[in-house]
Amino acid sequence: ETVVNRIAAGEVLARPSNAVKELLENSLDARSTTVSVACAQGGLKMMQITDNGCGIAPEDFRFLCRRFATSKLKTYDQLQGGEVDTFGFRGEALASVSHVAHVSVTSRTAAGACAFRGTFRDGALLPIDAGIAPDLGGPEDPAPGEDVLQAYLTPTSGTQGTAITVEDLFYNVPARRQAFTNPRAEYVRILDIVSRYAVHYPGVAITCRQHGASRADLSTPGRLASPRQAIQAIYGAEVARNLHDIDIPRDTTGDLKVAVRGLFSAAESRFRNPVFFLFINNRAVSSPSLKRAVDTLYANLMLTAGGKSSFVYLSLTLPGAHVDVNVHPTKRFVNFLEEDRIVELIVSTMADRLQTENT
Ligand code: ADP
Ligand code: MG
Repeated sequence: ETVVNRIAAGEVLARPSNAVKELLENSLDARSTTVSVACAQGGLKMMQITDNGCGIAPEDFRFLCRRFATSKLKTYDQLQGGEVDTFGFRGEALASVSHVAHVSVTSRTAAGACAFRGTFRDGALLPIDAGIAPDLGGPEDPAPGEDVLQAYLTPTSGTQGTAITVEDLFYNVPARRQAFTNPRAEYVRILDIVSRYAVHYPGVAITCRQHGASRADLSTPGRLASPRQAIQAIYGAEVARNLHDIDIPRDTTGDLKVAVRGLFSAAESRFRNPVFFLFINNRAVSSPSLKRAVDTLYANLMLTAGGKSSFVYLSLTLPGAHVDVNVHPTKRFVNFLEEDRIVELIVSTMADRLQTENT
């Protein structure tokens, strides 16, 4: 069973940045206004995500790393109706991480008198003293009393919010672990995913640093009004100033149930490679068809020749039932209904704007 879980975990978490993304999304789902990420050796030795969100009650710790345990899935109807505004409805992320790494969680809720720390292994909460551990009970059982939790959770000081520490990623999957020969490259991937979320959530103060470093490699102040301001905080005023807005409201009369917002550059010399940040329903995703169409547009307009590149940030809102995110678990490639027409709508809107600029 454990090996099966380990293989399944490897599917969900191909590399450290996948885990960072899941943890970051959890912090944002918890309505945090500050989230900080720290990593050692590209997240392989350690990654720690600290937030000031709603926190986790002591009696909920036992479910945290259980497969398919989620506090977010409400009803099947909500899923179908697209009311679920997060993709965090699978309850698989923390479970997966706990099968391939050492996980410890410190958390305090608004109602809690103090914070509690628990440690997880292979999906289960570890007793503090491995010798005598009372039964925690299954999902159907009532919440265990304080006396039982005492054997699993250590009270500590701490403010409201959650800190999740993941150590020795893939310690029990040597082949996978050895595949990562360049921790620096993994850290760059982590910075990339944190940047995406920092742009998309300008109201949240997000930082990312190497463990022990005093200076963050990425930092947004939070309380910003717009993604453009977050881009300014990350990439500088010059990049932010040169961006066009795209804003396609949802057409209530037509059958294309999409709203598009975002920012895009003309020719941009700040970046060596095209930057393409795509969010669908507030989750960073990949859409090869949309990416290809945007790249082709820039190439056709000769905007990405001569060392120039592009910066594109797009945020799509679609009915949840129109989006299929399970095509590939790690990269989160998405397919969505009316994909061709939506891609065409976005690209032609961008083309109009870029062509007027060109002439
Ligand atoms: P999902 O996000 O799909 O629900 P996860 O495995 O990512 O599944 O997380 C499991 C549960 O743990 C969440 O549903 C949530 O209740 C809780 N949780 C995880 N991280 C946090 C956090 N940073 N703050 C508050 N609750 C959290
Ligand atoms: Mg999650």
